[in-house]
Amino acid sequence: MIIMHKGATAEQIDAVIDEIKRLGLKADVSKGESITIIGIVGDERIIPFQRLSILTGVKEARMIETPYKLISREYSEYRDNNRIIRVGNVEIGGDKPVYIAGPCAIESRAQLFRIAEEVKKAGAHILRGGIFKPRSSAHSFQGLGAQGNDEALEALSWLHDAGRKYEMPTITEIRGEKQAELIAKFVDILQIGARNMYDQDLLGTVARLNKPVFYKRHFGASVEELLSFSEYIAVEGNKDIILCERGVLPIGKGKNFTRYTLDLGAVPAIQNETYLPVMVDPSHASGRRDLVYPMSCSAIAAGASGLAIEVHYNPAESWVDAAQAITADELERIINVCNHIYSIAAENKKKTAPK
Ligand code: PEP
Ligand code: MN
Repeated sequence: MIIMHKGATAEQIDAVIDEIKRLGLKADVSKGESITIIGIVGDERIIPFQRLSILTGVKEARMIETPYKLISREYSEYRDNNRIIRVGNVEIGGDKPVYIAGPCAIESRAQLFRIAEEVKKAGAHILRGGIFKPRSSAHSFQGLGAQGNDEALEALSWLHDAGRKYEMPTITEIRGEKQAELIAKFVDILQIGARNMYDQDLLGTVARLNKPVFYKRHFGASVEELLSFSEYIAVEGNKDIILCERGVLPIGKGKNFTRYTLDLGAVPAIQNETYLPVMVDPSHASGRRDLVYPMSCSAIAAGASGLAIEVHYNPAESWVDAAQAITADELERIINVCNHIYSIAAENKKKTAPK
């Protein structure tokens, strides 16, 4: 990492960038109000810090130990604010909470359009719908995308059209590299599901599609791992990363009352480390529709930038994740109270001393 002097000129900054490129490395420039920080992307063993530190305008050139340098709040131009990720008219990480809603899986055109209309009315901003579903059993419904190329194309075009009709950007999961390019043609935000959090090749491929990435924490991953692996997206030059806490594995023997354990302490902890927005998925985290409301409120109170919620007009009949689906009426109730909590949480955040 290279920290430039306060008064460093544009020419001096360019000269440092040129030198980094000459070494076969990439520069990640973060321009703050008063100082410029240049991150170096590439094999850190070959970085000649000594040589870089004597270039004009350079204040300091040194190795940063943290594995998530590029998304770290400390080494960026972001101090008290987050990176705002803009998709269509929606701002994620800004001064309003953002709600992603829609079915777990797209079942038909009619199902998707009806849910899209309902969630829009309830106040949702972004439309979700799974086409390639990660499932625990090879014998259950894998999403329309798994039925063939034509079915995948059809479902993708429904999602695209429903999003345009109801004026919501769209999101769906990319489960494997071979579907990535096709999905990116139709969808605004690319989701990497919990099970694929560690797939470096998939992360790189999705990052290079140059669309915002909704990146879900694996249910066995530490916060540090989530941040470290996010860096695989950032090194591709894509910092439009929305992190999502969606619950970790529950502990103990016997009956589990929740599908996962929502780790809400992770939300402010992540926010301390990175400027990327953090959202929460209370649906997969709890696995129970009666817990979606209280978990949503708690997530927003903990400082989440928004929520991702599964909605169906006939929850019990959902093809996938029926136990956690809620109606659009319930979503509206959640949005109303969460908007209120968000404004209180934002006020308090300003007063709370950082770590
Ligand atoms: C989903 O959001 O559709 C999903 C499968 O979630 P997760 O990857 O968190 O299990
Ligand atoms: Mn689901």
